Amino acid sequence: MSAITRQADVCIIGAGPVGLALACLLIRAGVACLIADRVPDAASHNRIDPRALALTPAARAILAACGAWSLLEPASIGEFQRMEVWDAAGTGRIEFDSASLCLSTLGYIVNQSDLESALRAALNDARTHVIPIADLERVEFGPDQIIAHGTDGSRLLARLVVGADGARSRVRELAGIGYASHAYEQHALACTARSALPHGQVARQRFLASGPLAFLPLADPHACGIVWSTTPEQARRLQLQDEAAFRIQLAAAGGHILGDMVESGPRMVFPLQRAQAERYCRPRLALIGDAAHCVHPLAGQGANLGLLDAASLAQVLLESRQAGRDPGSLHTLRRYERWRRGENEMMISVLDGMHKLFGSRDPAMQRLRNAGLDLCNALGPVKHWLMARAMGLSGDLPGIALGSAVLR
Ligand SMILES: Cc1cc2nc3c(=O)[nH]c(=O)nc-3n(C[C@H](O)[C@H](O)[C@H](O)COP(=O)(O)OP(=O)(O)OC[C@H]3O[C@@H](n4cnc5c(N)ncnc54)[C@H](O)[C@@H]3O)c2cc1C
Repeated sequence: MSAITRQADVCIIGAGPVGLALACLLIRAGVACLIADRVPDAASHNRIDPRALALTPAARAILAACGAWSLLEPASIGEFQRMEVWDAAGTGRIEFDSASLCLSTLGYIVNQSDLESALRAALNDARTHVIPIADLERVEFGPDQIIAHGTDGSRLLARLVVGADGARSRVRELAGIGYASHAYEQHALACTARSALPHGQVARQRFLASGPLAFLPLADPHACGIVWSTTPEQARRLQLQDEAAFRIQLAAAGGHILGDMVESGPRMVFPLQRAQAERYCRPRLALIGDAAHCVHPLAGQGANLGLLDAASLAQVLLESRQAGRDPGSLHTLRRYERWRRGENEMMISVLDGMHKLFGSRDPAMQRLRNAGLDLCNALGPVKHWLMARAMGLSGDLPGIALGSAVLR
């Protein structure tokens, strides 16, 4: 990589789904914006990432505004009209369906690598490319601009730097912002698998004693994205198992809900944590996505929250531009922080509570959660509130995500 010097109003470090979405939104609105990543181009970026992401209608609306949704191959978009969640240690069960909410869909399933490729293609359509940079050495915070220095001598100058560089954000570290994190004693194994029975566009999650196992329906009627959260030891064992033995274990762990598993793809294991950055901004800096917060994948919310961060920050920056204000001023950035930090905090707490409730092996707690699941299933308004929240249809939404529900 040769040393480069580039300048713009906004410089985004990290071209994961969240950084790419922010870049697309800003560039399409005419903001001079740079985006840089350690991983240079789409080809090398297409490392095998078997994660299937459940995306909300709100996330879809944001991706459409980025120009990326239409670039996803239809065959790479799964859709679910129904969701079933049940406890393996009891009879408790909760079900959601789009018809009862008068919606045409509850959400979509897209592979993380496909999503990143579509966002990179949308960026290229806007005549912008991800700048390859070596690791960040330091960020100089001046009164009017920042200078991000790469270890290869590259320099990126801007009025605002956005850290979109994931949970281990170097931008956050260099800015001296703390990240209150708690490592879960669970790792998630992700892969795709084909089943003997069709998934019927139902997203399923079975809570086992060691953690939740999700079957997320892909476009192929027999293929699902698997997210199996379990002890680190079991996750490692499952990853190393030969394919036939793994498929037998997977079908059994799912209670044979989809019959035998007839095929499975490469498996990858991810450590899990809950985290929240102490601040989302300081003068000339903002954090978005996993750089700002991390959640357990049990409700498939991480990327959805990050996309809402990107859309909210874009809205705040565009409004401040209209008012002739500096995009890096604390006044501007605090609006974004006030908006998103509380919303994310609430979701972090809800998911952490669910993790604790379903992780308990105490028989009294097991009875309580089974009764709670049934009760919640029977109480329409509570169920609808939960669902609307998880689908990104309620809460303080950015303008482009408002009205994102596809009504029947
Ligand atoms: C098993 C699993 C299942 C999940 N399922 C779901 C789901 O169903 N729905 C959902 O919404 N979310 C889900 N998530 C969460 C989701 O994957 C993350 O929230 C999302 O990837 C965060 O995106 P991001 O762009 O903030 O960060 P990342 O995806 O981590 O991207 C960060 C980018 O920054 C780059 N980078 C890092 N450091 C530097 C540096 N120093 N300099 C330059 N570039 C750098 C990296 O190369 C990368 O491209 C899941 C997560 C896991 C682990």
